[in-house]
Amino acid sequence: MAEQELKKYAVIGNPIDHSLSPEIHKHFAKDLGIDLSYIKIKANLDGFPEAVNKFFDEGGLGCNVTLPFKQNAFDYVQQSSELAKITGSVNTIYKNEGIFFGDSTDGIGFISDLEKNKDFYIKDKRILILGAGGASKGIIPSIFLKKPSSIKIYNRTYENANKVIEKFSILGDISILDKENIEKNKFDLVINATSQGMSSENFEVPEGIFEKGSICYDLSYGAAAKNFMNFAKENQLIFYDGLGMLIEQAAESFFIWEGIRPNVTKRLYEKLLAVTN
Ligand code: NAP
Repeated sequence: MAEQELKKYAVIGNPIDHSLSPEIHKHFAKDLGIDLSYIKIKANLDGFPEAVNKFFDEGGLGCNVTLPFKQNAFDYVQQSSELAKITGSVNTIYKNEGIFFGDSTDGIGFISDLEKNKDFYIKDKRILILGAGGASKGIIPSIFLKKPSSIKIYNRTYENANKVIEKFSILGDISILDKENIEKNKFDLVINATSQGMSSENFEVPEGIFEKGSICYDLSYGAAAKNFMNFAKENQLIFYDGLGMLIEQAAESFFIWEGIRPNVTKRLYEKLLAVTN
């Protein structure tokens, strides 16, 4: 197929060099015998709309959106899915009959990874989320759809945690982890949705909240997930990183664009693990 006939996809962010999305989407496409190109686009911090317009004007069919533009993407699109509306963020854009549509696949990716790849089911489980930023907000509605016993939030900045509670309490039992009585709380699943693994500061996890069989899941992967992984190992807890979620959210985007659900294989996970470690 000639270069100009290739289906064009992209991921837009800033920074963008680290993104594994091209590798994942090209793997899916090759596996399914689809010819496509998938490039990384670094948009200026104040230039997200221009970058999207240019990409689609030049024949782009769909794009992913990553940090720090997921909220800009929500504001940019003309129509969005229910999940995108609840989370206020968009990571998948496509155009249909001149209209830009936005969807949010992070939450679905997270749940798919837990259920399909880790055989862990949220129903009736006690969930703790460390962090109250975009990633935390992105997964909470999808977690509620699976009927957990409760969700608690633990975050450095109280006001930010409080905003998350206010936003999502309509969906179910969600509250701030009471720092005075932490040891009274036990959790089946503790999710690191902070970006603190990336910093050189010590990684802080509340004490006394784990039981035998508790699961630690870091939405980050590679070097950024090392601190939580080491903590889990030291405390003999099961640990998963966010690579599985990354692949599953990409699979969902691919499905939205191409109408075919790609095969998520262990081989792809291991290939990416080798790149990130
Ligand atoms: P964000 O919106 O910037 O939020 C960052 C969160 O981390 C906030 O809650 C912030 O607390 C907290 N934080 C930052 N530095 C901290 C520190 N030194 N100590 C304690 N807390 C700290 O970022 P985000 O979009 O939510 O992303 C969070 C992580 O999720 C990133 O590592 C990202 O790569 C990952 N992620 C992974 C996937 C995937 O597919 N696997 C998808 C999305 C995101 P304050 O409120 O106090 O500032």
